[in-house]
Amino acid sequence: MPEQAMRVALKVDVDTHQGLGQGAPRLMRALQAEGVTATFFIAMGPDNAGRAIVRVLKNPGFLAKMRRTGAVSMYGWRTVLSGTLLPARPIALSFPQVIRALEAAGFEVGVHGYDHVRWQDRLDALGDAGVRAELAEAFEAFRAIARRPARAFAAPGWRTSAAALRALDEMKLDYRSDTRGRAPYRCAIGGEIFATPEIPTTLPTLDEVMGGPGLAARDAVVRFYLERFRDGELNVHTIHAETEGMGELDTFVAIVRGLKARGARFVQLRDAAAAIDAAALPACEVVRATLDGRAGWISAQGEPRERTAALSA
Ligand SMILES: [Zn+2]
Repeated sequence: MPEQAMRVALKVDVDTHQGLGQGAPRLMRALQAEGVTATFFIAMGPDNAGRAIVRVLKNPGFLAKMRRTGAVSMYGWRTVLSGTLLPARPIALSFPQVIRALEAAGFEVGVHGYDHVRWQDRLDALGDAGVRAELAEAFEAFRAIARRPARAFAAPGWRTSAAALRALDEMKLDYRSDTRGRAPYRCAIGGEIFATPEIPTTLPTLDEVMGGPGLAARDAVVRFYLERFRDGELNVHTIHAETEGMGELDTFVAIVRGLKARGARFVQLRDAAAAIDAAALPACEVVRATLDGRAGWISAQGEPRERTAALSA
């Protein structure tokens, strides 16, 4: 029964220098060994991860999470200090060969912002011009490395705004994957409805799940995920080069094997986007929400707009 087929789009976010230099190549090899594909979104600018970690240290709830998830052992001190005590290293421009190798191997590669930390911490403060500058730098770096324009964008930290959606619409991308949600939709904020299809992440991330109640052991985490992938739907699972590509690779591979055993079909987000009839997508309000296991707000798919035009016709 083809309508029951489970589609899985793995979205690999690469946030740091170490993530692109070490995590992404390891994930690429693991995915190739399993015979599954994925879409990589790469932060194109400087690695200021240390600034994010300083922010985290100021938040008492998050200090516990840092300890629980072993952030220092996971990222290493070089990343933890990057952009604070040590200079920020460029991410994409340090490893153009990794980006080209991903593309040569048939993986999809898109843009995950320029300065990940600046976007995540200061999106609203950046204003229209600041958002456009971040996007211009990111897409230019991508073009210089990949020798073609990028066709997709994934917002750092799942944070977006009307200014960002407006600027991205003007770039006429094939799709965006900026938010958390249920299924593809068109973003609406206030009175505006944006044209570019949004393909949201549908599952929680491993760093949100790890260490939750009853989720200390790897088997429990794998079971937790396998219960949440849905038959007959497009499941978008965001993983991180710094997490699944480093210390949690075995957990990730166990999830992939469980999905393969259930007959999942692994797709790239660009293929999912190509199959979408954009005009038929519902327009849903983009709301700011919080998630268990994650600090601060993220952008999420809200309720569909009333189709008043259709009702009155
Ligand atoms: Zn990210």
